[in-house]
Amino acid sequence: MHIKELVLDNFKSFGRKTRIPFYEDFTVVTGPNGSGKSNIIDAVLFALGLARTRGIRAEKLTDLIYNPGHDDGDRSGGPREAIVEVVLDNTDRTLTRSQVVNAAGSDNVGDVDEIRVKRRVKETEDNYYSYYYLNDRSVNLSDIQDLLAQAGVAPEGYNVVMQGDVTEIINMTPHSRREIIDEIAGVAEFDAKKEDALAE
Ligand code: ATP
Ligand code: MG
Repeated sequence: MHIKELVLDNFKSFGRKTRIPFYEDFTVVTGPNGSGKSNIIDAVLFALGLARTRGIRAEKLTDLIYNPGHDDGDRSGGPREAIVEVVLDNTDRTLTRSQVVNAAGSDNVGDVDEIRVKRRVKETEDNYYSYYYLNDRSVNLSDIQDLLAQAGVAPEGYNVVMQGDVTEIINMTPHSRREIIDEIAGVAEFDAKKEDALAE
């Protein structure tokens, strides 16, 4: 499974609906400073519900909504809503149809060759709202997290390696570093289960 496409609408510096293709194996995003490269990563963290643990660059959720006057500290009127959709290529059936149906709480999830995780944040005059969708079915964050965990994507996992993480990993004790490797290899899960079993 891999990210096939990212659709940003009114998210951070992306004031227009923008589709960004991702290729299997390797995709590089280049551009001048301030052109929005890191905002693309923020979009993935936001949509997949990994933002809190992986350090998205925004103080409030509503800071993620496109704001034309962002650099001048202005705040525009008009609609305040940002949407990000992560389109996952699931043609290899990393996630089975029944896993997707289960998470969506509905049979009506279409062809699961594609798994679309969408998040929307909406600001009203005195509040804000956050919504998640799975193949256009309204779901909770926990539904998304449980589903992604079955594909090996966990909030505390290393599917997203942030800038500071590299230095942190280099400076770790060999033991802590080993724990990360176990985590990535999927062994840590079994260590935890083994410990539980021994404790019983
Ligand atoms: P660098 O090469 O320096 O790392 P980058 O390509 O990663 O740059 P980003 O950090 O992704 O750049 O983008 C920063 C830009 O996003 C800034 O110009 C900032 O004004 C803009 N930006 C951030 N939030 C918003 C927002 N809510 N509305 C409009 N623009 C925003
Ligand atoms: Mg950057």
